[in-house]
Amino acid sequence: MPSVPKWLGDTLEKLSSKYYHAVTVTDVTYLNESLKKVRFEGDIKSIAFTPGQVVEFRVTDTDYRHYTPSVFDTKQKACEVIFYLHGRGIGSMWAEALEEGQQLKLIGPGGKLAYRSEFPVHLVFGDETSVGLAHCIANECERSGSQFKGLLEFAPENISWEIGTDDRTTVVRASMDFPAKRALEVLESWQDIYGDKVGFYLTGRAKSIQRVRGYLLEKGVPRKHIQTEPYWAEGKRGL
Ligand SMILES: Cc1cc2nc3c(=O)[nH]c(=O)nc-3n(C[C@H](O)[C@H](O)[C@H](O)COP(=O)(O)OP(=O)(O)OC[C@H]3O[C@@H](n4cnc5c(N)ncnc54)[C@H](O)[C@@H]3O)c2cc1C
Repeated sequence: MPSVPKWLGDTLEKLSSKYYHAVTVTDVTYLNESLKKVRFEGDIKSIAFTPGQVVEFRVTDTDYRHYTPSVFDTKQKACEVIFYLHGRGIGSMWAEALEEGQQLKLIGPGGKLAYRSEFPVHLVFGDETSVGLAHCIANECERSGSQFKGLLEFAPENISWEIGTDDRTTVVRASMDFPAKRALEVLESWQDIYGDKVGFYLTGRAKSIQRVRGYLLEKGVPRKHIQTEPYWAEGKRGL
């Protein structure tokens, strides 16, 4: 629900209070000028979380935005999110303004994409908004002894970013005109990903997801091995 009238937002918050968790911002780290990692601590001890799930924040009285925890640690009562500050919408402005000590409500977790432990290999495709997901799935792979592969497309000005998942993640240049063009070239060169061992998590820009999904299906990857969750689309507000 990207946007609802204020009265409805207030009512939902009262009626569904078990999904709203009071948290405090306890740490803010800039991974670079446009990637902001924020740690939230608070009332999340008894929540079930599967890597890949998302949380939601009420970013204004009437607007909500989804984000993917890179870490969700119920023992430590802590959750971390990596925000891409693209500066083009209220979600980005809200994330930019987050500071230590701020108190807010975290909603969820939920969403349709989640880590599937039956696969020995997990491939995350996405962009700047998917860095948190890549971390979360990579950590889960390490924990469970499976293999992680990341493929992220970044805007030309972000191409040199270090994102901390080492050589398991390949970063390519994104093109607004040709969604996923370079990513498809890389996928073509990864001959070992077309069997039945790989679980795919396609996220980020809607148009890029569409192209990558189409390509994988053409290559014979079973439909049920591919999970998709668009994180943003040109001209759309808050998916
Ligand atoms: C399930 C889910 C999980 C998500 N997880 C994360 C996450 O972990 N980290 C994160 O940073 N974001 C994440 N996002 C995306 C985040 O919610 C978007 O950044 C947000 O929707 C944009 O909100 P906004 O209000 O800033 O811009 P909006 O008002 O939604 O968009 C305004 C315009 O800005 C442009 N725009 C939006 N996003 C981008 C972009 N990334 N690059 C270029 N142009 C853009 C589009 O043209 C859009 O029409 C997630 C989204 C979903 C749906």
